[in-house]
Formats: sequence, C-alpha cells, structure tokens
Amino acid sequence: PLALLKDPSLLKTDALINGQWVAGASRFDVLDPSNGRKLVDVANLGPAETEQAIAAANAAWPAWKAKTAKERSIILRKWFDLLMANQEDLGRIMTAEQGKPFGEAKGEVAYGASFVEWFAEEAKRVNGETLPQFDNNRRLMVIKQPIGVCAAITPWNFPLAMITRKVAPALAAGCTVIIKPAELTPLTALAAAELAMRAGIPAGVLNMITADSEQSIAVGKVICASDVVRHLSFTGSTEVGRILIKQCADTVKKLSLELGGNAPFIVFDDADIDSAVEGALASKYRNAGQTCVCANRFYVQEGVYEQFVAKFTAKVKAMKVGNGFEDGVMQGPLIEDAAIEKVKRHVADAVAKGGKVETGGHALTGQFFEPTVVSGATADMLCAKEETFGPFAPVFKFKTEQEAIDAANNTEFGLASYFYSRDIGRIHRVGEALEYGMVGINVGILATEHVPFGGVKQSGLGREGSHFGMDDYVEIKYLCIGDI
Ligand code: ADP
Repeated sequence: PLALLKDPSLLKTDALINGQWVAGASRFDVLDPSNGRKLVDVANLGPAETEQAIAAANAAWPAWKAKTAKERSIILRKWFDLLMANQEDLGRIMTAEQGKPFGEAKGEVAYGASFVEWFAEEAKRVNGETLPQFDNNRRLMVIKQPIGVCAAITPWNFPLAMITRKVAPALAAGCTVIIKPAELTPLTALAAAELAMRAGIPAGVLNMITADSEQSIAVGKVICASDVVRHLSFTGSTEVGRILIKQCADTVKKLSLELGGNAPFIVFDDADIDSAVEGALASKYRNAGQTCVCANRFYVQEGVYEQFVAKFTAKVKAMKVGNGFEDGVMQGPLIEDAAIEKVKRHVADAVAKGGKVETGGHALTGQFFEPTVVSGATADMLCAKEETFGPFAPVFKFKTEQEAIDAANNTEFGLASYFYSRDIGRIHRVGEALEYGMVGINVGILATEHVPFGGVKQSGLGREGSHFGMDDYVEIKYLCIGDI
C-alpha cells in the first residue's frame, strides 16, 4: 500500500532531533496488521538520543517563545494546510500501519489536523487579567507564560490525532516538544513531523523519538527524570499512566493524562430505538472497538430490550470485515495478537457466565475478529469491569433509571458515557448523575476539536481540545506592582 503514495518522501523512517533525521544504531520493524508483513523498519533510539532531543528542545525554547503569538499561529496554520493537502497519503500510511478502514483513516487526518487549526487560532487568545487592587498604590496583573519543554507519549489507536491534540496547544503557547509516538504506528507520526518541518517549525522546536516497546520504557524514564521537561502528556493505558505518575514525582512534573475508559451506553424505554442502534454501532465498532471512548457496556431498559437486541444484532451481522483498503469494509484488523486474545477472553467469560451469543463470537484468520453481540450480560462478567478494546458488545437488561445509573458508575473509570432518552427531565437527571468527563445524549460520537475531551476518576487528569486544552501548557504568573 505504501507504494501508492503520491508523495513518497512523506514515508520517513528515521527519528527527528533538532531538525535532523537520525537513523539510530538499531532499527525495529513496523508491521501491517492486516497480514502481519513488515512494512519498513524505523530508528530505535534510546536514552542518549532522548537526552539530545531534550537539550535541543531546551535550546530552541527561548527563540520560539519570543515569537509573537501571531507568528506562531501563522506557522501552525501552515502545518494544518499541509496536513490537509496530504490527507490521502497520511490516511494511506495510517491504514497500512494501524489497520483502520481507509475512509476512517482519512477522517482521522481531518480530525487530527483540526487541532492544529484550532490551536493556531487559540494561540492569539492566551489572555491575562487585571485584578482590582487591595491598596490604591498597587496594580495587580495575571499573565500566562509557556510552561517550557513538554513531552508527549502517544498510543497507536489514533496515530495522528493523539499527537496533534497535545503538540498543537504546546507549540501555540510557546513551548517546545519531544514526542515519543507508539511503536506500532510511528510512520503517520513521522510523516506529520516532516510536514511540520515543511511548514517552517524551527529545528529543535518539535522533536520525535521513535523506539520499540523495550526502549520506549527507557526513553520514558529519561523524560520523566528530566528537570528540563516541565510537562508530560500521555494517552494510553491506566496501568502505564500510573507508572508515569510515579516516575514524575521526583521532578514534580505537571501531567496531562488520558487513560482507559469503560464507557456505558444506556438505552431507556423512551428512546428512539433506531437512533440508539445507529449510535451504538458507531460508538462500538469504530476503529474495531479500539478507542478509549468506545461503548464497552450496553444497558437497555426491559421494555425495549428485545427490540434493541434484535435491531442492533441485524446491523452488526451486516458489517463487512477485512483489509481497510477494500471497498465497503467497516471493520479492519485488530492491532496485534494480544488484542485478539483479550476479546476472546472477554467473550468466553461472558458465555461461561450465561451470556447468549447473538452474532459473531469468533476470531477469524490473522488479526481479525467477528463483530460480536452477546445478550444477557451480568455484572460479574469481565466485560462489566474491564475495557475490552475490541469489537464485542455485551448487552445488560435493567429495570429502573437508578439501577442504570448505579451500574454505569460502578467502575474506577470515568471517561465517556452515552445514553438515549427523549424525556427532558431524565436527560438532565441522568446527565448530571453520570460520573464521567463526557456524556453523549442521543449521540454515539462526541469528540471534536473545540470541546473539552477528558476523564474523571482513574481515566485521567486535564482536558484536551477546546480553549481549556491550552491550560496545561501555560503557567499563571501574578504580578503585584507597588509605588504607583
Ligand atoms: P495501549 O494500551 O494503547 O497499547 P500503552 O499504555 O501500552 O497503550 O502505550 C501507550 C504509549 O505508551 C506507547 O507509546 C508506548 O510505547 C508507551 N509506553 C508503554 N509503557 C511505557 C513506559 N513504561 N514508559 C513510557 N512509555 C511507555
């Protein structure tokens, strides 16, 4: 698939430090998840190169922060234009290394680029405040300044958007960055870095360290231990998030974390069932179920339970599974064998505990898994507690509103939640009662660049996107001026 790129020079396989492409002493393979074949190999860097990247970012910081907001904004806008001009090639690279259907991949390019556009605009709105004085000889001001060198460690499920959502506000605020993209999807990240260079982002302002899974741990340790790195933004598992929090304790680093979810999707008796079925499909099977906001648990009220299960199952049965470049494919491969194993384990556990397979239930050849629906799910099943991160929808039956709220909140996670109802009172009650950072009401997809994305409880810290998404990249300074 990579032979079809319109601009083959977007296929970068070396890391980027201080504006230079670095091949590294060793390399690691990037595979096509649809067939397990090697696509290319990529630079496998370690602690020494990470130190160099941190030093480069620190050296580049004074000149970058001294630019006016408008100057930074113009460069970011150019990066956005280049990402969109190369949408097809970036989508192709993404489908090749990540597996999501080509249409979805191009959609992610637009979504990823939209953060660059948004924060190019927000760069000009990092406003301070003047406060009323407590003594007429004084004047009180608040200014916002860039926090400094920032690091971003990102996952494979959104190879572009999880980078731009962190890097665009950092650059807009006047920070410099070191990015450690996921080892499974470094090619989309490197192509985006190449376009950043073409847009005129100066050497050292944006650095990208590629590393395999073992070296990623070592790179992470150097980033966390560094005094120079003032902020770390991570998207990935809660387990790795906890490790990073501990590692950042010694340098009291500011953290932004987007961790795991366990999203409930509740359908009340008064819902529009056809709309709920459409929302359920989009929420569950997008990216083969591999997003942290994918519905993980479906709670359906008893009056509409049979109808919902029947309609939902019929739609899921009709989904086409296959290589993301084939026409009409709605679900591609899962990212790796371990992901298939987890789905298998969750389905087997649900069946052993009395669940009924309505459709699917089996792994196919390679890294493909049938889109699956299991009815009769219960609270003791693994799928009630853990995020499956795959194409498996367990459906639970409930009687009362309170029962659904309690079940939905009975988790240590709190990222996205969804519910369907047409009762205005219930919409307010349930919307307020769900302990989640995001609530989709009569929708199955809710993320976009100008809304705050993030979770409560063990789903993370901070918000990304929207004007709130700038907050983590600036420090607030209070100036108290006397002798007026
Ligand atoms: P996922 O569950 O999405 O595979 P992970 O949390 O394992 O996510 O990984 C997300 C990102 O975190 C990847 O870039 C990976 O290389 C990186 N990573 C994993 N473990 C560590 C670690 N101990 N220190 C630093 N980075 C890590």
